[in-house]
Amino acid sequence: MTNKMEIKKGDTVLIIKGKDKGKSGKVIKVFPKENRLIIDGLNLIKKIKRPQKTDEKGEIMSVPGKIQRANVMLICPNCKKPTKIGHLIENGKKYRKCKKCGAKII
Ligand SMILES: [Zn+2]
Repeated sequence: MTNKMEIKKGDTVLIIKGKDKGKSGKVIKVFPKENRLIIDGLNLIKKIKRPQKTDEKGEIMSVPGKIQRANVMLICPNCKKPTKIGHLIENGKKYRKCKKCGAKII
């Protein structure tokens, strides 16, 4: 599998493409099969909230929409820079590694 998702929930990522380019935020959900993810408060899309009761009006809300994995870069928690993800094996376990500073990213 080459398109394995390397970004995990809780990671901080930088958007490098699209209308929110240059902004960074925390990943709150990942969709490995679609190669997409959702970042807290970014890539907002309008959604209509259906009324709960018949006498209520539908409400338009802004919610963070899915974004392509290819449009974001991981921000290394150690050097705080956007980086590509490398790998390292330690005690038989595979970890992600920052390609900039070499720090292990858990
Ligand atoms: Zn780093």
